[in-house]
Amino acid sequence: MWETVIGLEVHVELSTKSKIFCSCSTAFGGEPNTQCCPVCMGMPGTLPVFNKQVLEYAAKAAIALHCEISRTTVFDRKNYFYPDLPKAYQISQLYSPIGRNGYMEIEVDGETKRIGIHEMHMEEDAGKLIHSEFDNETYPDYNRCGVPLIEIVSEPDFRSAKEVVAYLEKLKSMCEYLGISDCKMQEGSMRADVNLSVRKKGDTAFGVRTETKNVNSFRAIEHAIEFETARQIDILESGGTVKQETRHWNEDRRTGVAMRSKENAQDYRYFPDPDLPPVVLSEEYIEQLTSSLPELSEVRRARFTQEYALSDYAAGRLTASKALADLFENTVKLCNEPKETANWLIECLPKALDDAGVAFEDADISFETFAEFIGAIRSKTINKNVGMKVLAAMVKEGSSFDLKGYIEKNGMAMIDDTDMIRAAVKKVLAENQKSVEEYRAGKTKVLGFLIGQVMRSLGGKANPASVNAVMAEELNG
Ligand code: ADP
Ligand code: MG
Ligand code: ZN
Repeated sequence: MWETVIGLEVHVELSTKSKIFCSCSTAFGGEPNTQCCPVCMGMPGTLPVFNKQVLEYAAKAAIALHCEISRTTVFDRKNYFYPDLPKAYQISQLYSPIGRNGYMEIEVDGETKRIGIHEMHMEEDAGKLIHSEFDNETYPDYNRCGVPLIEIVSEPDFRSAKEVVAYLEKLKSMCEYLGISDCKMQEGSMRADVNLSVRKKGDTAFGVRTETKNVNSFRAIEHAIEFETARQIDILESGGTVKQETRHWNEDRRTGVAMRSKENAQDYRYFPDPDLPPVVLSEEYIEQLTSSLPELSEVRRARFTQEYALSDYAAGRLTASKALADLFENTVKLCNEPKETANWLIECLPKALDDAGVAFEDADISFETFAEFIGAIRSKTINKNVGMKVLAAMVKEGSSFDLKGYIEKNGMAMIDDTDMIRAAVKKVLAENQKSVEEYRAGKTKVLGFLIGQVMRSLGGKANPASVNAVMAEELNG
């Protein structure tokens, strides 16, 4: 049977304020061509000046990816002509990239797997071409020219789309922990090229690969991998050969098309950039960066299981995102309820975000309010049912959400008045004689229905434990 072999080339935009070789802003979404200068526009006679912050961010990533760090790292010119590249060369690294021979560990279906990192280098981004359908013209926007990137080239170690997605998620989380990129695929700050080949299971040699570009969401990557795997298997099974080529993925049409074959591949005529001196990284510099790295997700995960007695699963879910893990820790500092907090963050928050149509990054939940919320649940001010609604409102309103006011205004406080609950139970039993008889005849399944009726008649706000107790008393005499 067939096996899929995948290697990734991932570009990550670094979140420095200014570009890699000039002081222009890197802000996303500015008016076209308002964030450029003679350096990043490639005017003759200008000279690049390397941004130190880029070196720091790139070195941190290389260290976190367990790479060997080059003590001297050099920039090379990659020459090609394209309208989004006014200099007609991209400053990149080929011969002495900043990092080599690293790895990242991913987890898929409970198994840990090590993905090799072939190399990691720094380079500048190119501009953007806007193809207008309106007047059939192409407009270049050079704001992105010179935005710093790191490119992380993996070994062909992936065997499934699941592994690829796990790796990209881990990479995103790593950048978030290091504070070096927001890795927003939808804004192009993380982009992946998928190199893929297939071979018969058991074969040791790799098959001929294609490279699919322009896959810019996790879902698109899954689709592109599925598509390309099936396409190559089809070719091979009908006796053909796969051509080594670059392909373009169109997510809207769910299809890939060939862009250029390897025979027409460009010769980039790489050579060391004479305008930029080699960058020397001292032992002290590397040591200082290594010791200043923040606690990364694996270490934090282990600490969470120890310190808060969480399951490895829960700790893994919470620490996958630094922002989520921070929200958890800050909340627990205030309310001292790790289990309850973890449950709400893992089990309920995703649903609340989904219902509100808000992404976690944009939800702006304050840990003070969240701690107050957990307190309200624990003190039985509100029940879990109502809690879901409150959480949805909190997610929508963000940090200005007034928890107490919201519960009061909407009359959501939990009903735990036994007389009131008993009256509701009696009424439901009187109205559902048939179900009561069924229950007494041994069909205990109807209990859920009866309890549901009582809850409904009390607006979903009753204490479930009290309803259960009163119901049992009334039914069993
Ligand atoms: P190039 O220089 O043409 O870009 P590289 O050797 O640098 O090629 O490899 C680019 C990417 O392709 C790497 O991520 C590598 O893991 C992956 N790759 C190489 N060979 C294969 C193969 N046969 N199948 C799948 N991926 C591959
Ligand atoms: Mg390549
Ligand atoms: Zn500039």
